Amino acid sequence: MLNLEGKRALIFGVASESSLAWAISNWLIKAGSTCVLSYQQRFKSRIIQLTKDVEGIEALEVCDVSKEDEVKDLFNRVSGKFDMIVHAIGYSPASALSKPVIFTSEEDYNTTMVVSAYSLQRIARHSLKRLNQNSAIVTLTYLGATSVVPGYRIMGTAKAALESLVRELSPILGAAGHRINAISAGPVKTLAASGVPGFDDILEYMEKSAPMRKNIDQDDVAKTALFLLSGLSSGITGQTIFVDNGYNIIGVPPHLNELN
Ligand code: NAP
Repeated sequence: MLNLEGKRALIFGVASESSLAWAISNWLIKAGSTCVLSYQQRFKSRIIQLTKDVEGIEALEVCDVSKEDEVKDLFNRVSGKFDMIVHAIGYSPASALSKPVIFTSEEDYNTTMVVSAYSLQRIARHSLKRLNQNSAIVTLTYLGATSVVPGYRIMGTAKAALESLVRELSPILGAAGHRINAISAGPVKTLAASGVPGFDDILEYMEKSAPMRKNIDQDDVAKTALFLLSGLSSGITGQTIFVDNGYNIIGVPPHLNELN
């Protein structure tokens, strides 16, 4: 097991027990790190309940990342420096996810892009002066950034922007000794995922089609996050690493072999 004793993480995106960010927090704490968790006001009581008996959580801080002032205030409220930042945030209004992209309104497009992509730039910018030497940032993306996934719609465009931001930010952060990477996770049942139309069908298809013939879980993502946030990945930055049981390399899914 990695030893992250004495390290501090700032985590964005814990909404429930099923959140990828919650699994990452738990693995970071198991490795000895402490975590500050940021959440949205509407889920305050749920977050307090979720974290109440967990040692290693330094503080719970409310923050809507779509608002510049809220991110600025968060960094002003929380003292000291961090070694690891986790950005596990994605959102698109139901009015956008329910329609093909050709009908996405300008307002929904902007909301989706600001919350799901621009927020990474915002958090990285505010983090810069608050990171210890050799720090790391990790964000979460999905295959819909580079391929058409039915139902993912405008989120695919936001994830494409997010992955590009990871590349664009890497030399800027690299000049200060820090790294930034994205994990492209396979489908996992979470609150955010339940907003994607046809999500259960995607899970079923992935289970049949991935080289490993199974779906991933939160811990698969968290273990890779631990690697990318730690010194074990000291030579890796600007990358999108797939944690999807290999699904992304498939041209024709194995279960179609029966057609031969
Ligand atoms: P989740 O538990 O619902 O987490 C999404 C988080 O984004 C929630 O904590 C949500 O807070 C937060 N969020 C949304 N708008 C926000 C805002 N304006 N300010 C602050 N936080 C905001 O779902 P998840 O699946 O773990 O998602 C984490 C990340 O993984 C997302 O980027 C998602 O796209 C990505 N991902 C997920 C999957 C999957 O299949 N689950 C696959 C690949 C990538 P509220 O709930 O309070 O709105």
